[in-house]
Amino acid sequence: MTGKQLIMNLNTTNKSTPNSEYNSMTNLQNWDGDIIDCHIHPFSSPETRLCPHGQPNCAKELFSELKRAGITRCCGTMIRRMENPEWADIRGLNDEAVALSRLYPEYIPGINVHPAYPDESCRELERLNKEENLYWVGELVAYMMNHRYSDPGMKFVFEQAQYLGMTVNFHDNNDLEEIASFCNDFPRLQLVMAHPRDGADYLARCELMKKYPNLHLDLSGTGLFRWGMLRHGIDIAGAEHFLFGTDFPICNPGMYVAGVKFEPLTIDEQRMIFADNFKRLAVITP
Ligand SMILES: [Zn+2]
Repeated sequence: MTGKQLIMNLNTTNKSTPNSEYNSMTNLQNWDGDIIDCHIHPFSSPETRLCPHGQPNCAKELFSELKRAGITRCCGTMIRRMENPEWADIRGLNDEAVALSRLYPEYIPGINVHPAYPDESCRELERLNKEENLYWVGELVAYMMNHRYSDPGMKFVFEQAQYLGMTVNFHDNNDLEEIASFCNDFPRLQLVMAHPRDGADYLARCELMKKYPNLHLDLSGTGLFRWGMLRHGIDIAGAEHFLFGTDFPICNPGMYVAGVKFEPLTIDEQRMIFADNFKRLAVITP
């Protein structure tokens, strides 16, 4: 093959992807409405910030940086590494989160629970649901709070969350059998896996969401660094399963906004991922 022929071949689109289809994908509009980040970790002092790079220094900086990235609202738990937490430690994180939401109304607290304290956790879900109208649990991070999702107490917490119509966002261990068992055991509980991962792990997560209508995925952490993965995942499982999230201040929120906007998605798909799916699962109106 001559160099000229090679260039001609490279510039010719595959017959299965007609030019018109490719052009219509690249001419897509960008979503310019609400962008809700379902996965952040606010903090009350620089010592409890989950980021070693010196910023943001305070809650005011945290929320102004999210705004600078185009993020209009956000949700998530206060997280701290705890060896053997008392219930008062867990409850304290929730109290801090609620107090922060009074100062920054764009922040929706994510609820912390712990399977070592099933009764307290169940009462806490009911309290925060009734008093604060909260429906979002997590992100739960088992390895930081020193528990496992398979701990016996978690069954009661999931039952209570299901009863109250709540959603549980959790950092799973990529144990898809365990995740499937939660979907089967609690079919009316909305579950959100944190972090897409990539390659075969990501594709397996998409196939699992195709099977379970109550299973979802937030795009935080490992994010969308593999090209086309969100478009492909939506084609497998449907756009209703994906939620926008960043893991700020651990990760750069601007990358995640740009990552979703640069995927070939329709405006309706962008609206679902940036805002509507979260509003539905966290029972937010408008
Ligand atoms: Zn996180």
